[in-house]
Amino acid sequence: EILLNVSGIRKDFPVLEKKIHGKQLVYFDNAATTQKPIQVLEAVEQFYRTIYANVGRSVHELGLRATEAYEESRKIVSAFIGAMPDELVFTKQTTEAINLAAYSLLASGMISRGDLILTTRMEHHSNLLPWVRVAKLAGARLRIVNVDEEGRLDMGDFDKALAMRPRVVAVTHVSNVTGVVNPVKEICREAHSHGAVCLVDGAQSAPHMPIDVKEIDADFFAFSGHKMLGPMGIGGLYIRRELAEKLEPPFPGGGAISLVECQEDNCNAEWLHAPHKFEAGTPNVAGAVGLARAVEYLKTLGMGEVEEHEKMLTKRLLEVLEDLEVKIYGPLEVKDRLGVVSFNVEGLTPHEVASMLDLEGIAIRSGHHCALPLVKRLGAPMGTARASLYLYNTEEEIEYFARVLEKIKKIAKS
Ligand code: PMP
Repeated sequence: EILLNVSGIRKDFPVLEKKIHGKQLVYFDNAATTQKPIQVLEAVEQFYRTIYANVGRSVHELGLRATEAYEESRKIVSAFIGAMPDELVFTKQTTEAINLAAYSLLASGMISRGDLILTTRMEHHSNLLPWVRVAKLAGARLRIVNVDEEGRLDMGDFDKALAMRPRVVAVTHVSNVTGVVNPVKEICREAHSHGAVCLVDGAQSAPHMPIDVKEIDADFFAFSGHKMLGPMGIGGLYIRRELAEKLEPPFPGGGAISLVECQEDNCNAEWLHAPHKFEAGTPNVAGAVGLARAVEYLKTLGMGEVEEHEKMLTKRLLEVLEDLEVKIYGPLEVKDRLGVVSFNVEGLTPHEVASMLDLEGIAIRSGHHCALPLVKRLGAPMGTARASLYLYNTEEEIEYFARVLEKIKKIAKS
């Protein structure tokens, strides 16, 4: 069964034709960031060429058109994750989105002294450190839920932690180290039934599977445009409308207010409605336009098809790694995982493996993947080599990768 017309898709990505060290590029570093199709590049260029102006303030024609392009992008991107336009705040990326969520809760008094924030050992540092900081500022505590040897969440420990009645549950949808998919719908349901707000880090899920924030029933959902064919410097934070209305914007400034009044040395601001109250300052309009085009591109392919294609490739990738008898981290069956695969070759460091693959044109990532607590828990304190797939990857690339890795293994042994 042909899910995607991959050879057609690859023509949209000029970089995939490049030679690296004289070899055909094989790009397996998609969990770090993804390549861009010409449609996205053209949308960004078109914006700068034809309708560039600042948004939300001007009455002149270009200003109106730029504002329209920005708000149209919000409609497209919010619909992609099942949200309403006013529930989507544009941010720089996932990291800024999670910080925005954390500091909003702090600024609104929804995290205060003695409160508990629950997160997990499988988080990217970007869904850990903002909570550490906010907990410290509020005098709140952190509880880090355990994972098992395969990198799956320990649901027993999660239940125990929930019984301590946290104010916030912050969890990743998909691990950027093992590809493990968490049962976020169940997690948010449990969080709510214990009175907590539920944040889902969607950096590794939104690019690879259909997302419906209403079905997940998340209060916050964070994601990055650059990991889903969009430009760098644009991402989003979904905030459930009822919550967004209650939240105090933590980073105030121009463009976020309906009124500012100063008496003597004291000023009062009235905020605009969400999402604008969270978007003070000039936003990345070109980025939003590019991300909207990326989302259109993904929609045309179908996210279900994208997910199936990647599952098929992931299955094959796991098979070749098993045949090569390298150490694989995370679950071996593709049921509850996506196409991020961590491994190590005996006798070589992850960086050595990545450098040797690079000489053959293959780009993977190596190291701790900004998830030190997890790689330590998995027994890989030096980190792992990580191959991560996307919609433009092929089985032939995986076979080539397997042949190169076999050579590398032999060199390591000799
Ligand atoms: N969370 C997860 C699960 C990630 O994989 C990443 C990116 N590696 C991030 C957060 C941070 O994303 P960004 O650097 O785009 O903010």
